[in-house]
Amino acid sequence: MKDLATLGHRIRHFRADAGLTLDQLGQLVGIAGSQLSLIENGRREPRLSLIGSIAAALGVDVSELLDDAPPSERAGLEIELERLQRGSVYASLGLPAVRPGKNVADETLAALVGLHRELARRSREAIATPEEARRANTELRQRQRSLDNHMASIEDIAEREVAAVGHVGGALTHRSVTRMAERLGFELVHVDDLPHSARSVTDLENGRIYLPPASIPGGHGLRSMALQAMAHRVLGHSEPGSYADFLQQRLEINYFAAACLMPRRQSVDFLREAKGKHDIAVEDFRDAFGTTHESAALRFTNLATAHLDMEVHFLRVGDDGAVYKAYENDGLRLPVDVTGSTEGQLVCRHWSSRVAFARTNRTTEFYQYTDTPEGTFFDSTQTGSTSAGEFSITVGVPFVHSKWFRGRETTNRLSSTCPDESCCRRPDSGLSQRWSGKAWSSAKLHAHILSPLPSGTFPGVDDQELYEFLERHAG
Ligand SMILES: [Zn+2]
Repeated sequence: MKDLATLGHRIRHFRADAGLTLDQLGQLVGIAGSQLSLIENGRREPRLSLIGSIAAALGVDVSELLDDAPPSERAGLEIELERLQRGSVYASLGLPAVRPGKNVADETLAALVGLHRELARRSREAIATPEEARRANTELRQRQRSLDNHMASIEDIAEREVAAVGHVGGALTHRSVTRMAERLGFELVHVDDLPHSARSVTDLENGRIYLPPASIPGGHGLRSMALQAMAHRVLGHSEPGSYADFLQQRLEINYFAAACLMPRRQSVDFLREAKGKHDIAVEDFRDAFGTTHESAALRFTNLATAHLDMEVHFLRVGDDGAVYKAYENDGLRLPVDVTGSTEGQLVCRHWSSRVAFARTNRTTEFYQYTDTPEGTFFDSTQTGSTSAGEFSITVGVPFVHSKWFRGRETTNRLSSTCPDESCCRRPDSGLSQRWSGKAWSSAKLHAHILSPLPSGTFPGVDDQELYEFLERHAG
């Protein structure tokens, strides 16, 4: 059934036009005026036959009564006020509901609705305070850990979509991605005026996915972005209701894109063969499927436990030593703050993730064994750089699984007892005496840890800019 509030308002509107009282119209259609009043107030659902009688009595078409639009601007505000007053945000304040009757002036009504809208917007925004964002992130990491970072249902969907366009092996081409989009009723359009905060925009009305221009034709980034945009539809996402929902959706669309670019069956075949030769290397996996090192490393964590029988860890660390992203199900002790959050925490100076920065030859992966109180781990680290600075990508496993990896014969071996302060946190006592109290330093703000904070309907994307963009291109 339709929105009862709108239906009621439309009946009242046409009844007033016809100059009939509740009782008079009630008499014409054979119900009591009080019953009709309940219907007009949206508190009772009329049978379709009654709607037909009312329409006939008022001399309008049934479709006029069933229209979705409020019959007037005033009625629109009344409907919205009633809806907002019923919402949990207003209810939590314990204030009385205002009945927007005739005695409430238009300006008063407009002011009330405006305040309600702002209240609703602010409460959505407040969901993503930095603390809340960190907590949601941590919960998500723990949930993924319990799943071994493997999401079978998304694997199935990705496998089906990729197979449907006839992809059999190797890198998923831009052409295949375009055909996957077409199958879903989307056209991929490259534009150079996307809203600043948006990576892509999907116009559901006109079936278009807007992407930035291809600066590097065939780049992995664009294929991945297009797949992520499609994923919202394939996975049946609706507008995120909370920051945690937003994070979950982002994880799922990233997972879907990776599972298309590195499909399960082909990837598992490739990795099992490498395992058989004791020569697993993320760099080879990356090159075989034409993706970035980070994507390949993360994808490896999706498949390693479920299909290759090994526990793993993954780290993306900045050149300042801070964790940008991390995952483990192998017992590696990630640095965490009091809330259990790892993003922004410093990893041990002796870990491969940081030692690799000191190397001069960074074209290949760096290998290292690290002895910790939790056991010995084997790590393989690749460094890279972005405009924001250098970073390292590490995939590692407990010692027992090192035999399957390229680089296992390395002689690099360090020990780490972090978070024990004596490991690497305590400064050299001579230096400490020399400088203590004689210097001051200002810390870098880790923007990525606090962002993206929702500011509108889509977290992190400016609504106005988004809508202006859609207007510009919808014509
Ligand atoms: Zn340490």
